Amino acid sequence: MNEQDDEERPICVVLGEEMMLQAKDKVPRLDIMATAPACPQVASLYPSLHASLDAELNALYASTLFKLEAYERLGKAVEIPTESYDDFDPVGQDPRWGVFASFHTYIEESFPLVHRSMQVTKINTYALVFHWQGSNPELKPLLIAAHQDVVPVDPTTVEQWTHPPYSGHYDGTWIWGRGSADDKADLVAQLITAESLLKAGFTPRRTIVFAFGIDEEAAGTQGAGALAVYLEEKYGTDAFTMLIDEGEGHGSNAVAEPIFALPGISEKGYLDVRMQVSAPGGHSSVPPDHTSIGLLSLLVVALEQNAHPAVLRREGTGFANMQCRVQYDRKRYPEALRELARRALTDDAALEEFKHALIRFDKSFGVLLKTTQAVDLINGGVKINALPEVAAAVVNHRIAEHSSVEDVQSHITALALPIAKEFNLSVNAFGTKFEFGTEGHVVLEDAFYSALEPSPVSPIDPSGPYGVLSGTIKSTLESSARYKASEVIVIPSLGLGNTDTRFYWNLTRHIFRYSHRGDLDDLYNGLHTVDEAVRGESIIEQIRFFTKLILNVDEML
Ligand SMILES: [Zn+2]
Repeated sequence: MNEQDDEERPICVVLGEEMMLQAKDKVPRLDIMATAPACPQVASLYPSLHASLDAELNALYASTLFKLEAYERLGKAVEIPTESYDDFDPVGQDPRWGVFASFHTYIEESFPLVHRSMQVTKINTYALVFHWQGSNPELKPLLIAAHQDVVPVDPTTVEQWTHPPYSGHYDGTWIWGRGSADDKADLVAQLITAESLLKAGFTPRRTIVFAFGIDEEAAGTQGAGALAVYLEEKYGTDAFTMLIDEGEGHGSNAVAEPIFALPGISEKGYLDVRMQVSAPGGHSSVPPDHTSIGLLSLLVVALEQNAHPAVLRREGTGFANMQCRVQYDRKRYPEALRELARRALTDDAALEEFKHALIRFDKSFGVLLKTTQAVDLINGGVKINALPEVAAAVVNHRIAEHSSVEDVQSHITALALPIAKEFNLSVNAFGTKFEFGTEGHVVLEDAFYSALEPSPVSPIDPSGPYGVLSGTIKSTLESSARYKASEVIVIPSLGLGNTDTRFYWNLTRHIFRYSHRGDLDDLYNGLHTVDEAVRGESIIEQIRFFTKLILNVDEML
């Protein structure tokens, strides 16, 4: 069947006779679910053994007194400026870490039951682990993570803030300040949940561990890096049933449409490559045909003319994500794309066509499916009458799931070698040497020693931990007083940036990055920028989510 025929094939052929009658009307939910085998949805999951405890806490969380207390607890956490810097020296050597001690004092005072009932361990002085012992040591513990640090506030922007960046001010709707969303909302919601569960007499069967890093916004090595070593030593490899850390949230629940929740099941890899060209100096009145800057430019041009290709694989996160979006977001995606998505499940030619159609539909899909490269830094030359002896550029790569650090290195090396050959340059490409002459020298290297492979992809088996997470997201949204959506669809997603989870791959295969809040409704102005503020009500929703998650995971066999 050719492409033309495919696009004209009516949806009814696939959906069956019953659907044929309704295809033009709103399609009933169950039937849609039946047609999306690549995006299985689980039912809402409510605690059953712990149903009365869940109901009791739900009622407590709805009280005005509880809400105001929660907002104040977050506000006070925001008041402590736990900024992390790219140029931090290690803990113990850099006095700027001292503010984390104030943060610890605050949470000790604010969460006394948590501190009395759990074993608290400080790793590398300021990273925190809370161990909540379960009654059944046979069950793998649940790991819940967040980070204590925040992005520094640019002093030149302080005046632009509606409320001062470390005010923690609650204005009746929003809680203002750096860290109010990223990531103190998660951290405080987790501790309030634990404190509330303890107060209500909950004793977990399954051990629960909280891990709070201190430099997620910088290198991560002092916090999550150290935590990972400790956690693996204490609990073992693949010791946790599931890890949940910060991530994307969900769509708007203010309109009567499907609401999409986007837990991250993988993250791209990372590599910064410095391309450095050295060439003899001298007076610029007697230059060679090509200076080091000219030669470097050839490398930059070669790189930009040879972008990495977008690859769509059925086993990848991109495919799972696109299948879900296209099948369930019927308002945004045309029927033809849905049909193509269905055929792409088994037909290789359709898979390729699906990829191209997606990128034509929205260019940003290409970013998800390929290794991106961006030449972000360049320098060379010191004086207009002196030939530049050194010129260098740094290229930032976010590595696609199907690729690797080595792939990216090979790609750049393969582009550099013909240029080196043509202009008689020697090359040191990531430690491997090539000699084509002595007229200059090219070095390709990991610029900041921050290379990171793409993460493993967490399983999305509906009957496993992903299913429990999905069901919990659904039950939390559907039972919310704010809920106006027609249904909840959980879509596995790819993280373009990296979280603390980049250190935690050995701890469990089931790593999910998700912050339970409305990405549009609950953030005043995005993260890492002026006027970071979070809707007070969304903290309550986060507490409801963590409560249901802990209870549901506790009931998991
Ligand atoms: Zn964060």
